[in-house]
Amino acid sequence: MKPRSETIQNAARAVYDVCVIGGGASGAGCALDSQLRGFKTILIDAGDFGSGTSTASTKLIHGGLRYLQQAVTNFDIAQYRVVRLALRERRLMMKNARFLSRPCEFVVPCYSFLEAVYYDVGLKLYDWLSGDASLSPSRFINRTESLARMPSLKSDALYGTVIYSDGQFDDARYNLALVLSCVASGGDALNYARLVEFERSPDGHLLGAWVEDRLAAQRFRVMARTFINATGPFSDRMRGLAGNTNQRIILSRGVHILLPLPEEFGNDALLIPKTDDGRVIFAIPWQGRLLVGTTEGESTLDAELIVTRKEAEFLLRHLNRYLEKRFEVGDIVSAIAGLRPLVRSRNSRETKKLIRDYEIEVDRRSGLISVLGGKWTVYRAMAEDAINTVQKLLTGRITDSRTRNHALFGAENDDTNLEGLLAIYRVKMSTIRYLTEKFGNRCTNILDLTRENASLAAPIADGSYHIQAEVVYCARQEMATSIEDILSRRLGLQFYDWRLAAQAAPVVGDILARELGWSPARMRTEVAAYVDRINRCLEALGHEPVRVTEVNTSEINGELHRRA
Ligand SMILES: Cc1cc2nc3c(=O)[nH]c(=O)nc-3n(C[C@H](O)[C@H](O)[C@H](O)COP(=O)(O)OP(=O)(O)OC[C@H]3O[C@@H](n4cnc5c(N)ncnc54)[C@H](O)[C@@H]3O)c2cc1C
Repeated sequence: MKPRSETIQNAARAVYDVCVIGGGASGAGCALDSQLRGFKTILIDAGDFGSGTSTASTKLIHGGLRYLQQAVTNFDIAQYRVVRLALRERRLMMKNARFLSRPCEFVVPCYSFLEAVYYDVGLKLYDWLSGDASLSPSRFINRTESLARMPSLKSDALYGTVIYSDGQFDDARYNLALVLSCVASGGDALNYARLVEFERSPDGHLLGAWVEDRLAAQRFRVMARTFINATGPFSDRMRGLAGNTNQRIILSRGVHILLPLPEEFGNDALLIPKTDDGRVIFAIPWQGRLLVGTTEGESTLDAELIVTRKEAEFLLRHLNRYLEKRFEVGDIVSAIAGLRPLVRSRNSRETKKLIRDYEIEVDRRSGLISVLGGKWTVYRAMAEDAINTVQKLLTGRITDSRTRNHALFGAENDDTNLEGLLAIYRVKMSTIRYLTEKFGNRCTNILDLTRENASLAAPIADGSYHIQAEVVYCARQEMATSIEDILSRRLGLQFYDWRLAAQAAPVVGDILARELGWSPARMRTEVAAYVDRINRCLEALGHEPVRVTEVNTSEINGELHRRA
């Protein structure tokens, strides 16, 4: 990975074909497609890659059953197309990064014969829409079989369940794999680089942009022939900077909570088909936890993205109706809130009825291309459309997108031999397995670090299976520049357990200080700020704040220090 300073120097000198603004799923997907079609591309994000909506998702690669239900009940052909496209994309998304995705079976509880018929028929339609992209056919199973599959399901009055399949993925690592694939193909990517102002010709056409390097508090200019606005919830703000003030986006806030995963829950996910306000909630086993969500309601950009006690109680109230084991707010180990950017529909302002479709808008005056709306599962199709538009504008013709069959970074050779790795490296099989699930074939780069320096095989916190070498690797090769970049998006420990993440912060801070040249004072400030953020999340749910024991970090990483 090129040093950040070098990328900034290049960016300030070059003229790009395409500058993509926003490094979430939509922007990272556009940058990869653009670079693979031969355009000189730069991707910039105001924060870390994927730090917006793209890591607050339910982590499903799906057509969307709720949208299918709306398509059928409202005879809505647009909704039907959204589901169909997503089901086709589901297969491509899973194929291009197998290590980050898996098929998952969902259990839909039914309490009468009629309900069973309703869901069975609906899910057969879902299978049919998937065509040859189907994962496995849906089916009804009786009460006894259902309880054997998911013993934690409340047995009273249960008639049976309908089982269907969708995909599940690691959204944060998938987002990063898109960015790293773009860089590996010759593109430039910068996180913590916020576009603050466009430069325009007298007739209003975009010529360049002023970008703030938030780590150095400096500005530099990026010149590009086209600019793609992929800023998700911030799309209208970006359109405003380009001179277009009409509003196209409505924001819908969604939250998830994470709970300890009861053994009796099994491997399947539970779909709660109807909440009091007519939505669906999922309870999904995810990386050793039970991920429960989502709520939904209109929101604004200024709303603080911290899950409230009221939101958590809403989710628990519904979950507890279906499970034998009762969960309390005190059981919550972490939570996450996000803003879904929906394209404004002419007919409805109610967020649950808005179409999850997307639109590629070309602003006639400025030339800004905005990727509006959509969802994770269709990120590739959206990017393909956006780059078709760019290509038509720049060259007058359109060539095939190469992203359909482009194995993402870490998935290039999908045949990692775990036993072989165990013979080479002196670490536990569970560590090797976990590293391959997070980093794909790049796990060997991390394992190599443990061979150079055995102390890097130590965990980052007692009770965590993440090892210190991961932090070193992410700082050197994955553009991680803060404790949160590491614990939240690179490793995922922050989603697994807020308290454990806070306990790991001093060790992670110490390693980052070595890698990024922080002073001891800066390191202490970074650790304190991180723990403070975690405590604000805990306090919002009424939990006790965490107290991080002072850790003598130089002792922990003595060997690392000597090497440096
Ligand atoms: C609760 C919830 C659950 C969801 N679950 C699913 C699901 O299970 N499956 C699914 O398919 N979809 C799901 N979605 C939808 C999906 O997550 C979103 O559609 C998708 O992540 C949007 O990605 P994006 O890149 O458009 O936006 P974002 O991920 O928000 O990215 C926009 C980026 O733009 C950057 N930015 C903003 N302003 C600037 C600037 N001035 N300069 C530079 N960068 C800037 C931001 O920092 C941000 O990183 C869910 C959404 C929500 C809210």
